[in-house]
Amino acid sequence: MATAPVADQQQLLKVQDADLRLKQARHRLETLPQIAHIAELAGRAKDLQEDAIARGAEVSDLRRDVTKAEDDVQSVRSRADRDTARLESGSGSAKDLQALQAELEVLKKRQGDLEDIELEAMERLESAEKLHAEASSQRDAIDSQIAELEAERDRAAAEIHEEIADIEAERVRLAEPLDSALMSLYERIRGNNGGVGAAALRGPTCLGCNMTLNPGDLQAVNTAAPEQIVRCEDCGSILVRKADA
Ligand SMILES: [Zn+2]
Repeated sequence: MATAPVADQQQLLKVQDADLRLKQARHRLETLPQIAHIAELAGRAKDLQEDAIARGAEVSDLRRDVTKAEDDVQSVRSRADRDTARLESGSGSAKDLQALQAELEVLKKRQGDLEDIELEAMERLESAEKLHAEASSQRDAIDSQIAELEAERDRAAAEIHEEIADIEAERVRLAEPLDSALMSLYERIRGNNGGVGAAALRGPTCLGCNMTLNPGDLQAVNTAAPEQIVRCEDCGSILVRKADA
């Protein structure tokens, strides 16, 4: 039967406590509320970014449309100016001048139509630019919200890392003097048992699994020599009895 000094068995409970606190701290580190919040916002940021890109492309297309409409208007206007200059110079036959006059009428009409197209393109551009600016500013707002949460998350994580370092140091200090066979048994059980390797026995109850020992087991545990390492039949933990029991 394996044995370990009673004081070591008692101290093992403190090691176990430190190990549980470490486990909890690591769990808190992995489940910081900011992590889920950031993930949620990152999804929206991605959508908003895609939206902003699409709106930006729309703006570029419409700028091209406006430029083309401006060029069209300009070329008709230039031609009309040339015709007007020729007409005013009075050179050419009456027939030529009449033809010029007729062409000017057509150009005037065409210029009006093109100006309408230009105006419409400019209006479309203006509203597309507005939508693009809105999408961009929404994306920027989410981005800065994410940056804030990341900073918050990092601050909280730094605190927990500090706490973990402290508990680890405490754990080393507690475990270092303990019987090595007791420690290796503890580590083996803990590894197979979700982090619980040792537990106090309170009355008939194992505090590792909260099961009550049956009367036969309880009697065997209570009559075993204090140095003897006894274990819970249910969870396998090293059962640590009260020192004065
Ligand atoms: Zn148990």
